[in-house]
Amino acid sequence: MTAGRTLKTADELHAAGLLDDSRLDPARAVAERYAIAVSPAVAALIDRDDPQDPIARQFLPTADELLTTTEERSDPIGDAAHSPVKGIVHRYPDRVLLKAVHVCPVYCRFCFRREMVGPQGDGTLSADELQAAIAYIREQPEIWEVILTGGDPLVLSPRRLSQIMEMLADIPHVKIVRFHTRVPVVDPDAVGDALIAALKASGKITYVALHANHPRELSDAARAACARLVDAGIAMVSQTVLLRGVNDDPAVLADLMKAFVENRIKPYYLHHPDLAPGTSHFRLEIAEGQRIVADLRGRISGLCQPTYVLDIPGGHGKAVIGESEIHRDGGGYTVRDFRGVEHAYPPRGQDED
Ligand code: SF4
Repeated sequence: MTAGRTLKTADELHAAGLLDDSRLDPARAVAERYAIAVSPAVAALIDRDDPQDPIARQFLPTADELLTTTEERSDPIGDAAHSPVKGIVHRYPDRVLLKAVHVCPVYCRFCFRREMVGPQGDGTLSADELQAAIAYIREQPEIWEVILTGGDPLVLSPRRLSQIMEMLADIPHVKIVRFHTRVPVVDPDAVGDALIAALKASGKITYVALHANHPRELSDAARAACARLVDAGIAMVSQTVLLRGVNDDPAVLADLMKAFVENRIKPYYLHHPDLAPGTSHFRLEIAEGQRIVADLRGRISGLCQPTYVLDIPGGHGKAVIGESEIHRDGGGYTVRDFRGVEHAYPPRGQDED
């Protein structure tokens, strides 16, 4: 059990010893534009003696956020362009996002929806808005999967989550309900029997996609929370954002992906950071990301490999951006192995395996 309360202002972070005097004024300026929240579980993970601490970097505001570059945009992945009714994003034919809430238990400094989430954000859907969103899903028979995201849907009470699941349970063409969340890591004690029961509905398969970016986030309490979910029959996948100064190191990412698998969480997406405002200090070049991902291939088993993706700005969906390991070469191909050695395919001579 992690005692204490969530710290929500620059001054509270300063009083808790998480920001030194030199960082207080910039953090106050950041707070005028973007939400701040550091949960007790996250505060406990931060190494206060390490100025480069990868946990602190994800959650403590810095002056770097005051710089907005020309390519950054308030809606970096183009949700608005695909929102037929409030709370729904329908980008791909077979699935929708259902954004029931725009509040999170923590606020990540690199958040791609940072202009929409937080106390000043887009709020929680009213009962009527939720009904309209559910009606849209009901009327679109091609929708096979509903992805609750936001905001973090697991901040909703078990009673509200049950209501949503009951409404989805009545829609026969919806087979899969997926929750994107940081709660098992940042508030593991919240993952109790009532919440877990609320995530399940008769006839539907529930997935929980856990957002974590550094192996230290998978504390004993977080691992126990994930075990409770999986033991209850909920499948888990991971999503990670590739972040400079947090996990832009193949060894760190390898440890994270292995930790996911050891906890029955299938690595799913490794996101290239989006063009969210005030986040340029987190972004790598795509070529750097490709080198890191190529390095991962030789380090960890296929079970541990995430898919490196970019959300194309403007709402055009995800693109897989890992380096191609196969190229056309004359009438055949050249294919590169995990050591970087190239081979002809099909083999050209008897001396090749
Ligand atoms: S939990 Fe997700 S939506 Fe919330 S601040 Fe972090 S990245 Fe943004």
